[in-house]
Formats: sequence, C-alpha cells, structure tokens
Amino acid sequence: MHMGIKVVKFGGSSLADAGQIQKAASIIRSDKQRRYVVPSAPGKRFSTDIKVTDMLYSCYNLAEQGLPFQKELSEIQARYNDIISGLHIDFSLDAEFAEIAKQFRNRAGKDYAASRGEYLNGKVIAAFLGFDFVDAAEVIFFQESGALDSEKTAVQLHKRLSQSEYAVIPGFYGCGYDGYVKTFSRGGSDVTGSIVADAVKADLYENWTDVSGFLVADPRIVENPAVIHTITYTELRELSYMGASVLHEAAIFPVRSAGIPINIRNTNAPDHPGTIIMSGSTDDELSAYTITGIAGKKDFTAINIHKDMMNAQIGFCRDVLSVLANHNIPIEHMPSSIDSMTVIVDSSYLRDCKSQIRTEIIKTVQPDALDSEDEIALIAVVGRGMCRTRGVAARIFAALAHARINVRMIDQGSSELNVIVAVKESDFEQAIRCIYDMFVNSVEEA
Ligand code: ASP
Repeated sequence: MHMGIKVVKFGGSSLADAGQIQKAASIIRSDKQRRYVVPSAPGKRFSTDIKVTDMLYSCYNLAEQGLPFQKELSEIQARYNDIISGLHIDFSLDAEFAEIAKQFRNRAGKDYAASRGEYLNGKVIAAFLGFDFVDAAEVIFFQESGALDSEKTAVQLHKRLSQSEYAVIPGFYGCGYDGYVKTFSRGGSDVTGSIVADAVKADLYENWTDVSGFLVADPRIVENPAVIHTITYTELRELSYMGASVLHEAAIFPVRSAGIPINIRNTNAPDHPGTIIMSGSTDDELSAYTITGIAGKKDFTAINIHKDMMNAQIGFCRDVLSVLANHNIPIEHMPSSIDSMTVIVDSSYLRDCKSQIRTEIIKTVQPDALDSEDEIALIAVVGRGMCRTRGVAARIFAALAHARINVRMIDQGSSELNVIVAVKESDFEQAIRCIYDMFVNSVEEA
C-alpha cells in the first residue's frame, strides 16, 4: 500500500528551546508519513528574547566592519548548547562554530551568516531524531536574477531525497548563482517547506507554528475570533494582501501548482486540526460562515478626479495611471462613475510627492476637479461561497449601516470572491467587528 508523504515545517517559536524541539519531535514521531522535516532557526523563547537569525545578522555586522565578534558568536553557540544539553544528546557543534568564525573573518556574506541559524538547528534536530541531514545549499538553487531555479532545484531535491527515507532539510536558504549561500526573504523557511513538498510529491505540507491556523478576523480587533477550517489559495491571496501574516506569501506557489494542500498547525496544541489551504473548486466544502475571512488595512489615500464627459475621452484613465506609474506608485483600487474616477493608493507612497502628483495629473488630463482624501481604510470580506449565496453584500452593508458607518467605496472583484469596502480610518475596527458579528456570531446563535 502506498504510504503517503508529509513534509513538516516547524517555525522558530516551535523550535526555540529543547522543550519545544521535544514537542516537535513527538509530533514527527507520532506519524510515520512525516518523513521530511524543514526547521527554522530557534526563535524567541519569550517576548523580549532575540531570534537566532537576528543574533547572526548583528554578529556578522561586526565581522564585516572588522570589529571583534567572538563574544556575540559565543552567545549564539550558548543557545545551541542549551538545546543540545536539554535534549540529552551526545553532539557537539564546536567544529561548526570554528568554521563559522573563519567564514565570518573571510566575509562570507550576510546571507551565509543568517543561514547558519537553520543549518545548525537542522544538524541538531537530525541528530536528535536519527534522520539524515541534507544541506539545503546542495539541493536548492537560485538563478542569476536571484529568483529560485525551480527546475534545477526540483531535479536535485528529488534525486537526493529519494535516497533518504527520513531527512531534515534546513529552511530559508540555498545555493546562489555564484555558488555562495543565498537566503530567501525573512520567514523564508515556509518557502523551503513548500519546495520540498513539491519535489517529493508530498500528499500534505504541514506548517507547524504557534497559532492554530488562520483566524476569520484579526484577534487584536475581534475578541477570540473563530479559526478558518479550510481556505483556498486564492482566498488566502486576497486576505494576505491585506496583511495576514502566518505564512510567507511565496510559500503557496510551489504547492499550489502541484495541488498539494497546506495544513497550518499549532505545535503547542497538536490536537487542533488547524487550517487547510487547498486549491479551490466550486464543489469544495463551503466556509462555515459563508465568508471565509475579513482583513483590512489602514493608511490609504483616495485621489478623486472629476471631469465632464470623462467617459468619452479616450485614454483618460491611462493618462492618470501613467502619472502614478512614473512615480512607481502601485494602485490598490480604481472605482469610477461616468464623469469621475477615484484611485486608491497606499498613502506611504505619496508622502514626498503628493503635490507633484497633483500638478502632473492636472497638467496631463485637465480635470474639472481634483481632490484627495487621506485616512482611508480598506476592508476585504472574502469567501468562495459568496458567488453562490444571495444577500452577502446586503448583509455586509446592513451591518455597517446598523453601526452607523459610512461606506466610502465598494468594489467587488470579478471573481465574486471578495467585497472590498473603504471606510474612514476611525471606523475601521468597528466596521470589522460588526461584519464579523453579522456573519459569525449570528450563525452561532442560529
Ligand atoms: N529564520 C528566518 C527568519 O527569521 C527564516 C524563517 O524562520 O523562516 O526570518
């Protein structure tokens, strides 16, 4: 019988000390299908603690300036030594640390320095589990442009891992085009996990972290929000774009194209099923609450442009947008009416060039009126069930009207997967709470 393969990635807080690593190890050992383990570097043990990755960056910074760094490097070694003694294994990283000191003196690079957090943790965890250790620099490759070389990586990873039934592959780094170690962006071990899952044709990619999955709304705004049981990759994109940050954005692409689901799980609550992220089809199980999630972000500016007969003027929108494009400003939304258009942009892009943009738009399209409004918040209400359920928009706006919140703009994506509303920043939290209540709490009461 075919035994399924699970790739399991553990985040930094799940591996911050020996106790956490023991929890991770019992999760791994409890299921023989959990064959490939991708660890992060040890993260924070308590809120004021420093992640090993950050310690490595600071330490290398000293080395790069030609300053003494041995004390800082010893502090990092002490963290690993604590882990090793807490795991009661007969294992030493002395030779590794001597090599790292040498490489630091030779200016091996910031990426090399940061990658050692995962590398060393991978060594310790492999020793503790009795799994093979596979250095990510030998199996994950980048192109000259800095992007992942997916083809070469898939071939090498597959080749190497087909020789190991159980292995640990450190997250976050690989081999750059120049042969030196190169890292992904911060949080990149999630990406490694996804690449490994794709390469071994895993049945499931489990991403173990310190929360029990994605929440329907931000817990800083809604008290004790429900966990999302299942979410599609597309819905997640809509929500992550608004700032949900459990998983690295790039981690969904390798597994999405291979049709491998991701399961977000909590190392500290291993019995909780967490959130399943999967490719969506209309036959999939619908979200428990019609909507899958609500996410939002403050600090947008609406630029309102009015001109009579705008609709008949060829190239009007293009001309307005080219002004913004010339300043490298991305556009979030663009609601319009027959004689007016609004462009919504992240306010941070306008800080230094607002009046210049205004002048250029006036010069380019000679509008009858042009004004802008700051302190706008955008809220995305996302759900794959929306297109098949009548009255979703009505419920969103009823909730907002009932809470006396004025809606500044409405935008429904063509996929009918999301409704975006813009409100004043001062109404932001209240708006999210009332939409949540309308969809989640009213269902629970029913
Ligand atoms: N350790 C790296 C970071 O702190 C990568 C990761 O944990 O995924 O960003």
